[in-house]
Amino acid sequence: MNTTSSFSDRLARVQEKIATAASRAGRKAEDILLIGASKKMLPQAMREAVDGGLEIFGENRVQEAREKVPVLPALCQWHFIGGLQTNKTKEAVQLFSWIHSVDRLELLQEIEKRAAQAGKMMKILIEINVAGEASKEGARPDEAEALVLAANSCRSVEVHGLMTVAPFYEDLEEVRPYLEKLRQLRDELEKNTGFHLPELSMGMSHDFETAIEEGATMVRIGTLLFGERKK
Ligand SMILES: *Cc1c(COP(=O)(O)O)cnc(C)c1O
Repeated sequence: MNTTSSFSDRLARVQEKIATAASRAGRKAEDILLIGASKKMLPQAMREAVDGGLEIFGENRVQEAREKVPVLPALCQWHFIGGLQTNKTKEAVQLFSWIHSVDRLELLQEIEKRAAQAGKMMKILIEINVAGEASKEGARPDEAEALVLAANSCRSVEVHGLMTVAPFYEDLEEVRPYLEKLRQLRDELEKNTGFHLPELSMGMSHDFETAIEEGATMVRIGTLLFGERKK
């Protein structure tokens, strides 16, 4: 990819692709939230992003966010998208407005406790391991209902939907069934629980257009916006 282009050029290109994919699916671009997946990006690169018009960031590590949140403009919105250790929950609740990666009851209870202590309402998604990959975080699909019910009985947590990191296949038609599976699981949960679960956080640089066709309302894009990450 061409990293000599300016951030706002890359952002415009991604936004255009979001709009095209949305219109293919009969959806509106405004209904899809673009989250800049900024892991390993330095605050300077992120400031350039803010100047270019992107203010919503997804971070994978509490330790990294701890350094970035205080030095970036206060208008930025922070989403936690990585695996969350229970002992980092207190800080995650302070730093982030959304946690996408709630995949176990113990973590949910800790978020509830820490959010209550902080007097904060946490917005969460339940992360699902749609392909049952051993290398990935996320609850099993059959664990989702219990998590949604438990979240709904929390006073300082609002559950808004589901999140997944779909398996990687070069061929997007091989990825599509897993994206579809997250949407179907959401539809089933809404039917079984009667709760409204509007958000589907799915889609990264490689598969976000397919994810939008399958109903994504939040896409988490790193490489296409910021360039390749250092290993
Ligand atoms: C890194 C990351 C992304 C973005 O990945 P790209 O392929 O760089 O767009 C999205 N979601 C999660 C959970 C990530 O860790």
